[in-house]
Amino acid sequence: MVIAKAKTLFNQPKFLSLKIDYNLNQDVLNKILNYLNENRSLFAISLFGEGLFSEAAKEILIRAKEVGLATSIDMTAEETSINKFKNIRNIVNQLRIWFELNGDYEYKINYFLELLKKERFNQKIIIILRGEKIDKDFIVRISKLINEKYYLSPFIILNAKHYNEKIIIKEFINSCRIITELHIKNPVKIFIDNPLCGIINMKAKNFCPAGRISFHLDSNGNIKPCHLVKLSLGNIKTDKIDTVWKKMMSLHNQSKCLICKYYRVCGGGCLANKNDILDKDLLCSYFIKLNDKIRNK
Ligand code: SF4
Ligand code: SF4
Repeated sequence: MVIAKAKTLFNQPKFLSLKIDYNLNQDVLNKILNYLNENRSLFAISLFGEGLFSEAAKEILIRAKEVGLATSIDMTAEETSINKFKNIRNIVNQLRIWFELNGDYEYKINYFLELLKKERFNQKIIIILRGEKIDKDFIVRISKLINEKYYLSPFIILNAKHYNEKIIIKEFINSCRIITELHIKNPVKIFIDNPLCGIINMKAKNFCPAGRISFHLDSNGNIKPCHLVKLSLGNIKTDKIDTVWKKMMSLHNQSKCLICKYYRVCGGGCLANKNDILDKDLLCSYFIKLNDKIRNK
């Protein structure tokens, strides 16, 4: 997911996210390279996936650099990833590192931050925590560890299979409450990357950037608003990105959320967290209740 404030729709995309698998075929690769060459609206690209350190990915990053784009990659917190990353460090501007919030995650985060310090990476580094549950003491401790160079972003994701698991929703909402209250009292460099946070006045609220300023391409060339959205609106092998981009923008313009009183702060929630892409976010009622609870305390 690209973190961005996107209050308006752009006529052309500014960010491209690419999922690179090992099966990225030459045809798709060529189309991507051509697109980077010819397109002047893009500002940045971000890469992730099992083929992140493949030759094809490197070729894309080099081309992106040549045409003046900012580059970002998402990698898991493993020592092997750091070693592989060294080969492309000169062509990457930003590193987003994912930690799973399970096991002794605090130890792992500390260890990894030390490792990064030792390797003297000069990229902007964003730490992303993935899970549904986070405790207050941990947030306070980890916030203190972060100096100006590191940005801590607990990226708390609920994917579709979790919607019916009430316990996870409960933990997720509780985590949102903890982080919100910390923000209100004393802003910390931490936020939940979820558009619905706008409802409860989170400092780092984000509109969903998918189809507003960014789009996603997978290794088969499918063009989607975001990698988490199932719906593909075209394919780079056969369709013009400009045409598909217009379709993506129209999703926001047709959204049932346009009439909601929270639209100006929520923007319609997450496109991937909906039964129907034009409908409201499946978690919106939880956030509205949470807001009422916090404000009426
Ligand atoms: S209906 Fe829900 S998801 Fe849609 S704008 Fe309102 S609060 Fe956001
Ligand atoms: S669809 Fe959801 S996960 Fe994807 S960019 Fe939008 S808010 Fe983020």
